Amino acid sequence: MSVMEIFETMEYGPAPESSSLALAWIKEHEPFQLFINNQWVKPDQGNYFESNNPANGKTLTKVASADKADVDTAVAAARQAFKSWSKTPGHVRARYLYAIARHIQKHSRLLAVLEALDNGKTIRETRDLDIPLVARHFYSHAGWAQLMESELPDYQAVGVVGQIIPWNFPLLMMAWKIAPAIAMGNTVVLKPARYTSLTALKFAEILQEVGLPAGVVNIVTGEASKAGDALVNHPDIDKIAFTGSTDVGRSIRKSTAGSGKKLSLELGGKSPFIVFDDADLDSVVEGVVDAIWFNQGQVCCAGSRLLVQENIAERLINKLRARMENLRIGDPLDKTMDIGAIVSPGQRAEIQQLVDIGVKEGAQLWQPSTACPTDGSFFPPTLFTNVAPASTLAQVEIFGPVLVTLTFRTPSEAVEIANNTRYGLAASIWSDNINLALDIAPKLKAGSVWVNSTNLFDAACGFGGYKESGYGREGGKEGLYEYVKPAWLARSQPKNATAPAVVADQDADEGTGNGVVHTDALEALTTEDQSSLPSIDRTPKLFIGGKQVRPDSGYSLTITAGNGRIIGEVGEGNRKDIRNAVEAAHKASSWAGATTHNRAQILYYIAENLAVREAEFARRIVEQTGREYADALGEVQTSLSRLFSYAAWADKYEGSVHRPPMRGVVLAMKEAIGVVGIACPDEYPLLGFISLVAPAIAMGNSVVVVPSTQAPLSATDCYQIFETSDLPAGVVNIVTGNREELSKVLAEHHDVNAMWYFGTAEGSKTVELASTSNMKRTWVNYGRSRNWLHRPQGEGQEFLREATQIKNIWVPYGE
Ligand code: NDP
Repeated sequence: MSVMEIFETMEYGPAPESSSLALAWIKEHEPFQLFINNQWVKPDQGNYFESNNPANGKTLTKVASADKADVDTAVAAARQAFKSWSKTPGHVRARYLYAIARHIQKHSRLLAVLEALDNGKTIRETRDLDIPLVARHFYSHAGWAQLMESELPDYQAVGVVGQIIPWNFPLLMMAWKIAPAIAMGNTVVLKPARYTSLTALKFAEILQEVGLPAGVVNIVTGEASKAGDALVNHPDIDKIAFTGSTDVGRSIRKSTAGSGKKLSLELGGKSPFIVFDDADLDSVVEGVVDAIWFNQGQVCCAGSRLLVQENIAERLINKLRARMENLRIGDPLDKTMDIGAIVSPGQRAEIQQLVDIGVKEGAQLWQPSTACPTDGSFFPPTLFTNVAPASTLAQVEIFGPVLVTLTFRTPSEAVEIANNTRYGLAASIWSDNINLALDIAPKLKAGSVWVNSTNLFDAACGFGGYKESGYGREGGKEGLYEYVKPAWLARSQPKNATAPAVVADQDADEGTGNGVVHTDALEALTTEDQSSLPSIDRTPKLFIGGKQVRPDSGYSLTITAGNGRIIGEVGEGNRKDIRNAVEAAHKASSWAGATTHNRAQILYYIAENLAVREAEFARRIVEQTGREYADALGEVQTSLSRLFSYAAWADKYEGSVHRPPMRGVVLAMKEAIGVVGIACPDEYPLLGFISLVAPAIAMGNSVVVVPSTQAPLSATDCYQIFETSDLPAGVVNIVTGNREELSKVLAEHHDVNAMWYFGTAEGSKTVELASTSNMKRTWVNYGRSRNWLHRPQGEGQEFLREATQIKNIWVPYGE
């Protein structure tokens, strides 16, 4: 093409990035081995798989395929390294992380080219986004390693962490996993995705250069069914961190249920991109390009659902089509390309299949007339209009460059459609009215909300999902808690997964308590408590929607004291009662919007009303447990103090404002999770109940509580206290009955957003298994008791963290 022709057509000339250095590096290392204990190790069975270049379908190299024996070796190396790495001073760990960041920058061009070759993403993106963010993540976490001692003084490393990452951002996802893990003193065994192992292996070489102690990071390449499965099920792994599809996340939750392994899941999404009629449409068009055509749409938080206010829909769609005609799709190593290749022919075929379903379901497909390469896995940018909100296209994660368009009329309709998905990873809001944008942001069920922007990430800002997009955060201080455990908890896994709950805290692991059982204490009660008249029969019902209601079953359960004496009856709740309670809890959702001052006042009021009946509550504890009166009174007084603590925290457990490297701010808001199911421990009938309910409601959740089966009367005695303390109806619902059965129903319920369970090891496993129905967050005790009287174990930020989820709202500013 002559200069004149270029001038007239304004066509781009080719601007290829050379792949020669990257190809030479690949050749030098072929076949790639496993990275264990800082050595390159041949796979046990001598198996290798091919790694291909998606842009031309050619084989790039061969990579070792690890099996169970290799994973065993890697985990043993990590376990050995943990002994010293977890004790290495924070400053020393910081020096290593800093060195890793520096070396990533030194090798940035090689890493960028390798990533483009292996994944098919454009060099423009790997060079300008992936690799700089990787370096930034290690720099930022070098800081957290340095500050761990002062900023997380009551926490320690979890242990050996198994990490499994996807292929869409291979090096970046690896950084998001490894940096916080090793910063907090853990050691790691990481499995990259089968399609994209190469940059992780280059990273391993960087670790050798840096001299990271052997075994701190081990990389086992391989397939899901072998290496992945072995890692998930390995008995000596303390935590699994996973990013990938919701289906695989669900199967990992099932495999690890009851094992005590800590789990964080970053799963799929179907994120809304909401455009109001006052938005700057030219900016919106560029935003859409970034939202859905960035990385070929293979982004978990891709803005794949365009929600447009009806009166501007046609204008925006026309502008979008014009822009799509100018998108350039082709060789990922050409710096002028906007869109590269899909990671594999299989993934491409899946996108095509979903597109075909969309057409069959009546949606209207539009693709630009520009040529799309036919050799290699390319898929043209695609726009669908006339899409029904419940159709496959609007609900299923396509994970490709496919945008579906829906319209809305009012802001509340926009929120409704935006939230009408099982996912909750991210959302974008476009409007020139900041008041409107900041009114909508808290209403969206999503972990990240971008105002007039999209797909922004930074190490200082947490990232992660609501609903079936998973739980746990990566980045920010909140991300660190995924890699630590409270210092008082000596082991992250229970000693004996099948051991039943103990009544008091005799477990040396978890500290000491004074819940000693005295079965003869009842007889020791003073005469003032002994009446010769039969007491007036009072069988507590259930407490649902602010009312005392009869159980659906019409049955009651007899409650006996430690010495076998009958002390009362409670209603026997069933599945239907739980359903009613969950419905009542949802109706009370405006509690989340009550001011923190108001919530605090109500908690103080509850404490005030409990204080008036202190002696009566203490006697009830004596009746149920046979403990000494003074001991029981201590439990009531600690419960009062606990109510005061959470009244205090209600307006003090606040979010933060981050300053990522851009003009703007990120508001990290701590939000209520929604409806929380709570199963109470048997020890400390009142304190166990209050210690769980108070933080949950202080943070704006509504709860459905199942008290201890054997000692429920302290909870049912609270009905009147709640009724007289201005607590809105439905915020606290109590269903008595068989804790194990009712917990399972709660954990299975689709409208319960989190489940806390403090009972047996078996019950913990049941709850974790049942939680996969809607991938709700769980918090269980694996049959271990806790010393509820001891403040570090019985109250504080651990409880508040479990009661909240963080939403990061990105607000850029400037003209
Ligand atoms: P997967 O969730 O299947 O894979 C992610 C990672 O998990 C890979 O390393 C994979 O290994 C591994 N893995 C898969 N199954 C298991 C298992 N049972 N036990 C342990 N490890 C396992 O994603 P895919 O790559 O198959 O993509 C499928 C769909 O998932 C996409 O179309 C997309 O919708 C979604 N996805 C979502 C992502 C996100 O970030 N939210 C990222 C990637 C995909 P291997 O590579 O060997 O299969």
